[in-house]
Amino acid sequence: MKMADWRKPWTAASSADRVRAFAGVLLCASALCTAVLLAGAGQNAVQTFLGLPAVTAVPAPTPVPGPLAGLVIAVDAGHGGYDGGAVGRVSGTPEKELNLDVALRTAALLRTEGAEVVMTRTEDIALCDENPPIRKKLQDMQRRAAIITQGGADLVLSIHMNEYAGRSESGPQVFYREGCPAGRLLAGALQGAMIDVLQPRTKRAALGGDYYILTLGVPSALVECGFLSNKEEEALLLDAQYRQRAAEAIAQGVLRWAALPGERPAPLPAVDRSAEEKG
Ligand SMILES: [Zn+2]
Repeated sequence: MKMADWRKPWTAASSADRVRAFAGVLLCASALCTAVLLAGAGQNAVQTFLGLPAVTAVPAPTPVPGPLAGLVIAVDAGHGGYDGGAVGRVSGTPEKELNLDVALRTAALLRTEGAEVVMTRTEDIALCDENPPIRKKLQDMQRRAAIITQGGADLVLSIHMNEYAGRSESGPQVFYREGCPAGRLLAGALQGAMIDVLQPRTKRAALGGDYYILTLGVPSALVECGFLSNKEEEALLLDAQYRQRAAEAIAQGVLRWAALPGERPAPLPAVDRSAEEKG
């Protein structure tokens, strides 16, 4: 679904439209309840006839539309498999594990807000073959891109952990595609939420960057949750409660972005990388 479409039902609709829509939902809900009750009664009549105990009808879970309803969000856990990414300076923990954990937590939170989530990986794997005809990393990225594109993503969030030669660097850092206003808007909302929720000592600003995952033609952000090269921040990132808060910050950033008033800038068109390193 295109962004202009998914916003329409709840932002552009007049209050009269909303009242009508709400009344429609109530009518549908009451009709559904009646149908469920009737079906339950019929079932129990059959059960009694057959001499079986009565069945208690289990009501279907009520779908909660949520503020992110209609939005398809790609959540990409960086690295995986042979590619561990950055390494915790004290613990030796590879970034790939922490990325996946935060990505899964983020996906769960976004789903409770009504979003449909597409994940590039849900386990510790690289998305490339053992001996591909192109660079393994490039094939891995091309396959992530294919999952995101074929999944119809309206938004891309790539989850990573940072590292730097200087051990004092710390603080979450969000990147967007250089020169892409749509990515910049998203990254700004995410960066602000990371600062508000995680209260890092170093409060960074979102930065333009050159990353493959940000060039797929949809608003995209790469979230570096913190520095594994910083002893204090590594300890925080190894704590599951802190990772949950990081996921909450990311979900909060998406909610803030979704609630921004006005027209969204269009993302830059996708970069065609199909010809890269063929053969
Ligand atoms: Zn990384």
